[in-house]
Amino acid sequence: MFNVTQSVTGTIFDVKEFTVHDGPGVRTTVFFKGCPLTCIWCHNPEGMDTAPTLMVRNTQCTGCGLCCRPCTHADCRPFGRCLHICPKGLVKVAGRAVGAGELVTKLSAGAELYGAGGGGVTLSGGEPLLQPEFARAVARGLHENGIHTALQTSGFAKADTFASVLDTVDYVLFDLKLAHEDDHRRYTGVSCVPIHKNLAHLRESGKPFVLRIPLIPGITDTDENLTALSALAGDDPVELMPYNPYAGAKYPTVGKVFRYELPEETEERSPETLAKLFRRARVLR
Ligand code: SF4
Ligand code: SF4
Repeated sequence: MFNVTQSVTGTIFDVKEFTVHDGPGVRTTVFFKGCPLTCIWCHNPEGMDTAPTLMVRNTQCTGCGLCCRPCTHADCRPFGRCLHICPKGLVKVAGRAVGAGELVTKLSAGAELYGAGGGGVTLSGGEPLLQPEFARAVARGLHENGIHTALQTSGFAKADTFASVLDTVDYVLFDLKLAHEDDHRRYTGVSCVPIHKNLAHLRESGKPFVLRIPLIPGITDTDENLTALSALAGDDPVELMPYNPYAGAKYPTVGKVFRYELPEETEERSPETLAKLFRRARVLR
C-alpha cells in the first residue's frame, strides 16, 4: 500500500506513455518542471523554468483577441489572459502541481504497460533533482508498488541531493554533454565539475546506469569533445542521441529565442562512425 506523505507535491509538465528510449523496456516518462541548465539546443523550453509556463501557438493565431480579455478563472489570473476561450485551442500552460501520491497512483495504474522487458517509469525533465523531495517520494511510492524506476538527469546537483535521490531509484540515465569546463559553461550555463563528481559517486554506488550524449552538430559532436568524453566514459555504457532538427519549434510559443544555429556545413559522419570513438556505445534513433 502506498504511504508516501500525501503533502509532498511537485510540478510536472508532461507524462508520456510508451517511451522506448528512456531506460529499459517500455516506460512511462514523467517530465519534472525546471532545469538549472540552459543548454542552447534544449528542445523542451517549456520545461526550463520552475514556474508554470504560458504557451501560445502563434502561427495559427487569427488575432481575434478573445484570450486577451480580463478573466476571472483562478488558473487564468496569474497569466492575465483566459486560457480556455481560444476557439482553436492555441493557449495552454505547461506545468501543473501534483501530489506525489496522486502521481504514483496514476503511474501505477499503467503497470501492465511496462511488460516483461524490465520497463517502468522514468523521472525526467527538466531536471528531477531540482525537486528532490518530490522525486524521492514518487520513486519510493513506485517502488512500494513494485515498479522499476529510472532517473534521467543532467547530474547537476549538490552531492547530497544527488545521493539521496539515487538511493531511491533502480537505474540512471546520466547525461554528459561537454567535457571541458569553459565549453560547458558557455553552452549549458553551468559548470561540469559537480556533474563529474556525481558521476564518480554513481559509479561507486554500483547502481546500473548509462551515459547519454546528445550529438549537437558543431558543439558536442566534435572529435575533440567526443574523444574527451570517451576518456571520461571509459568502459561505461554510452547512448548517443542524434540531434533533433525540430528542437527550436516550441521556442516561439513560450516567447523565447532558440539560440542554437545548425552549422551550414557539417562534417559527414554517421552516428555509427561517432560511436566508434567509444568503447561501449550504441546510437539511439
Ligand atoms: S539539461 Fe536537458 S532539460 Fe535541461 S536545459 Fe539541458 S537539454 Fe534542456
Ligand atoms: S483566442 Fe486564440 S486565435 Fe484568438 S487571439 Fe487568442 S490565441 Fe489567437
